[in-house]
Amino acid sequence: MKTIGLIGGMSWESSGEYYRTINEEVKKRLGGLHSAKCVLYSVDFHEIEKYQALGEWEAAGEELANVAVSLEKAGVDFIVICTNTMHKVVNSIERKIKVPFIHIADATVKQIKQSGLRTVGLLGTKYTMEQDFYKSRIEREGIQVIVPSNEERTIINQVIFEELCLGKIEKSSKQYYQEVIHSLVKRGAEGIILGCTEIGLLVKKEDVTIPLFDTAHIHAVEAVNVALEK
Ligand code: GLU
Repeated sequence: MKTIGLIGGMSWESSGEYYRTINEEVKKRLGGLHSAKCVLYSVDFHEIEKYQALGEWEAAGEELANVAVSLEKAGVDFIVICTNTMHKVVNSIERKIKVPFIHIADATVKQIKQSGLRTVGLLGTKYTMEQDFYKSRIEREGIQVIVPSNEERTIINQVIFEELCLGKIEKSSKQYYQEVIHSLVKRGAEGIILGCTEIGLLVKKEDVTIPLFDTAHIHAVEAVNVALEK
């Protein structure tokens, strides 16, 4: 089994889900007392969020690249970063490491393609919904991405940073997300990417009537696929 390197803490609420999913998946596949070989480097999200808010992506990239180098030194075989948003700085990270990097959008695209859907709605932070680094990676695979309206994006983003990353799960926010999903469906979405690793804590598949692509779950399972590859 290969050793998984996790860059986490963004937020730790979702990193916990990665850790649980990775171990559950290894147990499911190998049985007995098997568990995942992994190293988690959890950052202080306060510092990273400051970089985001100030648009200091280069500094953020530098910091996460140093984390990746530490993981490499610790002996991991490949690296995943447990947030969609910070995939914005993937180039800074990949430049500094020799081990492979498993991209969250690539893992998600694989799942969407398997489901045969062509048009999906995207929920995430304002950075993920509005900037190009994420959407374009999906669209270049022939999948159309629809994002919520400006006003909806503001509230979706607020819920992520003011509630979900702080471990608050509010019924009213779940209802709001359901409404936004409904409006994306009316605009043609056949499925919804939960493109923020905390959204799966709020919206579950039983809350909606169309397929959800929970990036945290998909990415964690993909990490296990790679770790157990022969
Ligand atoms: N975990 C979130 C994501 O998947 C948001 C936190 C962040 O800005 O990194 O985008």
